[in-house]
Amino acid sequence: MKNYPLILVLGYWLGPLLIIASHVGAIIPFFTGLSWPAGLWVVFLYLIRMLGITAIYHRLIIHKSYQAPAIVRWVGSLIACSAGQMGPNWWKGHHMEGHHLSSDQKGDSHSPHTPFIGIPGFLWSQGGWLLSRKNFLPPSLPADVEADLGLKIIDRFHFLPLILLNLISFQIGGLEGLGACCLSTVLLFHGVATVNSLAHLAGDQPFTTKDYSRNNWFVASLTLGEGWHNMHHAFQWSARHGFSIRYGRVVRLIDPTYSFIQLLEKLRLASNIKVPTDVELLQAANLDLVPATGWIRKINFSSDE
Ligand SMILES: [Zn+2]
Ligand SMILES: [Zn+2]
Repeated sequence: MKNYPLILVLGYWLGPLLIIASHVGAIIPFFTGLSWPAGLWVVFLYLIRMLGITAIYHRLIIHKSYQAPAIVRWVGSLIACSAGQMGPNWWKGHHMEGHHLSSDQKGDSHSPHTPFIGIPGFLWSQGGWLLSRKNFLPPSLPADVEADLGLKIIDRFHFLPLILLNLISFQIGGLEGLGACCLSTVLLFHGVATVNSLAHLAGDQPFTTKDYSRNNWFVASLTLGEGWHNMHHAFQWSARHGFSIRYGRVVRLIDPTYSFIQLLEKLRLASNIKVPTDVELLQAANLDLVPATGWIRKINFSSDE
């Protein structure tokens, strides 16, 4: 791990502290109650910030599955930052070098299979890893995002958007508004974390990968499509994660993040969207699943019929 400047280290330490403070703040609605407008505020903040993380951080900045102008990268990253889950450069460093490079093996920052297994492994991947001293800093800061001055500034001041969002919520709805914001932040934090935990533990594996990634419908519904995680590990460059293979055929699954990227394209705010062809998807099909899906029957016996 690199030696980072002290000012950057201090900024990165604020991330886990803000998440812990949000958990404390999420208790507020138990005292103030939650009115309909406050409940809608919880849902709205959950959805828009989830999209910031899935469509902008994960599929655009990290995996470059499509291209978008700087304004989309920057505004989207500000929204994603307000989730309290660190900045784009930190995210990419951890996600690529800390996860995809060594998924479910030694070196993976948040696998439920290492360094712990069972319930401790689940808790580690669901958030414990973020409280580990060795993970406060990413293994590296990727050169491409470091070269984008806008992203670099947003990354170094990643804590400001969430603090500002809490202040705005308090201004609009008083203590109840602040509690609603904190509750949304906590639900969002654990929603995103299910991709690290449940989507590496439970679900099907229609594609061949060297890890335990799964397609998990429950996680996909919490995360606007990110739960089709086995597909993502097989085709990291794909803007659409919602694919599976059934009975030798490609099946398209609901993927709201991909629909949002298509909307951006219609608005001329996204271009060069990468999606694998059916042939590519079938070539990556997990043949271990063949008996269960009827694939072998279809392939092997079709010529006898
Ligand atoms: Zn994964
Ligand atoms: Zn990824």
